[in-house]
Amino acid sequence: FFTLSPRQTAGIGLLISTIYGALIGLDWWRGRPDFNLIVNVVQWCILSAALLWSSSISAYLSSVRQKMRSSTRLVRTQSAELSSTNRELETALARLGHLAVTDELTGLSNRRHFLSTVHTHMDRSRNEQFGFGVCLLDLDHFKRVNDTYGHLTGDRVLKAFSDVMRANMREYDFLARFGGEEFTLIVTRGDETVTRRCAERLRKAVADADFSDLIEDLELTVSIGATVYQRGETLETVLARADAAIYEAKRAGRNVCVMKSADAGGL
Ligand code: GH3
Ligand code: MG
Ligand code: MG
Repeated sequence: FFTLSPRQTAGIGLLISTIYGALIGLDWWRGRPDFNLIVNVVQWCILSAALLWSSSISAYLSSVRQKMRSSTRLVRTQSAELSSTNRELETALARLGHLAVTDELTGLSNRRHFLSTVHTHMDRSRNEQFGFGVCLLDLDHFKRVNDTYGHLTGDRVLKAFSDVMRANMREYDFLARFGGEEFTLIVTRGDETVTRRCAERLRKAVADADFSDLIEDLELTVSIGATVYQRGETLETVLARADAAIYEAKRAGRNVCVMKSADAGGL
């Protein structure tokens, strides 16, 4: 009875009450000797009141059910909206995280990412027996490219240079744009031999690369200062050594790799 709709319960209640009333009326009309009109009318009133009360309870239950159904629908819609907002937030956060460590022009890691990565390598080298190599790379006479072909073309050359580097480095090494036309390479587990080999491969790749789709006859070269991190030394010390190495490479005529050892005066 309570699972029916308010209209159905009211209809059934009315029907029962009418039939019962009709039966009372029939008994009264037939004039049965034991018939007591007052008792029967009182019984009919009690029955009708009970049916009315049941109908109103049924209507109330039905409205509660209706509200629960619409609340459930609302909760479902809102939770779907919430998870889609969450997904958008996660994507935005991942994008922000990527932007924070990426150089916009070249798509390489930026200086901040280099500094955090090199510190991770320094921490790791305290516990492992392997060190790592650090190379500074500086494009040769890059100012001339800008002065001759404009800054925008210079930017395109920087991007093309980065692509050549990416294509020729080992996947577990780390390349970053340090600033301007200067780049840094971390040679993972690199001793002097491995670091020199990596640096030389990159130098040669740039010298051999064809940039004619940007500038016809562009002979782009890079000078590289390389060194190997010594356990316990500061980042400033190792970068100063790589800087001294690159200075020597420039003095040696550019398009050159110079390895500077920590103990010797360089190579
Ligand atoms: P060297 O061989 O001694 O390194 O000569 P260089 O001309 O490369 O060095 P210099 O330090 O004199 O000039 C570096 C130039 O790099 C100057 C600047 O215009 C250019 N440069 C730095 N950052 C950017 C950049 O984001 N885009 C462009 N197009 N050029 C840049
Ligand atoms: Mg420079
Ligand atoms: Mg330069």
